[in-house]
Amino acid sequence: MVSRVIPVETFDLVIFGGTGDLARRKILPGLFRRFRSGQTPEGSRIIGAARSEIDSDGYRVMIAEAIAEFGGDEASDSDSLAAFLATLDYVAIDAKGDGGWADLAQKVRSDVVQAFYFSVAPSLFGDLAERLHSHKIATPDSRIVVEKPFGRDLDTARALNAVLSTHFNEDQIYRIDHYLGKETVQNLMAVRFGNVLFEPLWNNHYVDHIQITVAETVSVAGRGSYYDKSGAMRDMVQNHLMQLLCLIAMEPPSRFGADEVRDEKLKVIRALQPVAPHHIVRGQYDAGPDGPSYRNDAENPRSFTESFVALKCHIANWRWAGVPFYLRTGKRMKARSSEITVVFKDLGHTIFEGDTARHRNILSIRLQPNEGMDLQVTIKEPGPGGMRLIDVPLDMTFADALGADAEEVTDAYERLIMDVIRGNQTLFMRGDEVEAAWRWTDPIIQGWEARNDVPKLYDAGSTGPEDAMMLLHRDGRKWREVKG
Ligand code: NAD
Repeated sequence: MVSRVIPVETFDLVIFGGTGDLARRKILPGLFRRFRSGQTPEGSRIIGAARSEIDSDGYRVMIAEAIAEFGGDEASDSDSLAAFLATLDYVAIDAKGDGGWADLAQKVRSDVVQAFYFSVAPSLFGDLAERLHSHKIATPDSRIVVEKPFGRDLDTARALNAVLSTHFNEDQIYRIDHYLGKETVQNLMAVRFGNVLFEPLWNNHYVDHIQITVAETVSVAGRGSYYDKSGAMRDMVQNHLMQLLCLIAMEPPSRFGADEVRDEKLKVIRALQPVAPHHIVRGQYDAGPDGPSYRNDAENPRSFTESFVALKCHIANWRWAGVPFYLRTGKRMKARSSEITVVFKDLGHTIFEGDTARHRNILSIRLQPNEGMDLQVTIKEPGPGGMRLIDVPLDMTFADALGADAEEVTDAYERLIMDVIRGNQTLFMRGDEVEAAWRWTDPIIQGWEARNDVPKLYDAGSTGPEDAMMLLHRDGRKWREVKG
């Protein structure tokens, strides 16, 4: 296989919160994979910075254990692992005090790419940004990476943007939405803008409706106290589903550049119509044979937080006028499946006698599992007996189609971190995008609060509340089956 690894410049990457769950589960195993594939230039360093009073050797032991647990098969490559661990360093630091900062200032070099990953609670973003400057560590070229949640409403998102922009320019700020790092999500753009087939049909003349489903089987157990203050609307719809919606609906950017792509995404969010209350269904999972209820998992017996949302929305522009977009996401659903489905319109007329069935082209783009696409086409049913038509999928699972290269279809985090080092912001959310998304989401949540809305219960292991089915049935449509 020809190596397609694009080199990056030598870097110092400081991970604030480097001992935390996200760093151990995702960031460092991802960095190890990049190291193994030769994408870490000689002399690059990763510096964990967190509250734990451990030394650099202690940190290396912690990360070796994390890679053994979360790094998959590659963790058994002990030579690479030893070489990777040698690039790690650690500083015990207090984001809210002065402890550790002088030490960090000594370690971070100013003549290499500098990136600071804020893998800590958002309440610490301001402290970190300020101290990086007061201790003269950050330079005008430093990059900072911030994690979701980016606010819990428009006001808090604005406040976070204001804190960060006091110390950093927008072109230094990388707001991660790991969905944008997924291979298939980027493929959405490749499919749309790299083929002659689809783009001419990508509008209200040919598209009947679009569905976006992100179904999870996991419960909220273990993170209930965080989730219960958030809910599916804030945790999934405002960011991940919104980003998918933008990529599927945006106009072609003039080039694949960070601002060109983000300008087009922003226009989609701004064109989103408010959602009528009867076009949205909130759900909360009930106890099932294989697990307790949401309220039990969230340790809040009176919780009215939603673990499921389904909604219908419209984009008020020339291309999409009249085309409904149906979005749905939930926890403890029947299967883990993320899929975007473009359902094309019926043929206006059939020339085949006796053909009474409705045949539709359906393009579905699977984000997980089995990343890939299929296109439902209509063909003649094989065999004698005249022209009977059937619908069959043209299936392309990337892992099958790409063979060994599919190994590269890996975790989103490592790709996004390398983009930070390269200085490419295309797959990161800009401040105005995040605010626009909250501007659309806030009235929905405020409406629920004002009405004391009670989520509909659904059985764990199902496809969500009955009302979510009705949302489409009323329009003469149905959801694609949730298949794992
Ligand atoms: P965590 O609680 O496991 O770790 C927090 C880290 O912050 C620890 O390393 C801790 O030492 C450090 N820290 C806390 N207070 C500090 C202080 N005063 N000074 C210096 N360091 C301090 O959290 P996590 O799950 O790793 O999440 C980190 C961030 O990433 C959060 O904003 C979270 O919302 C976000 N996030 C996490 C996940 C995930 O899967 N864990 C997913 C998406 C986003």
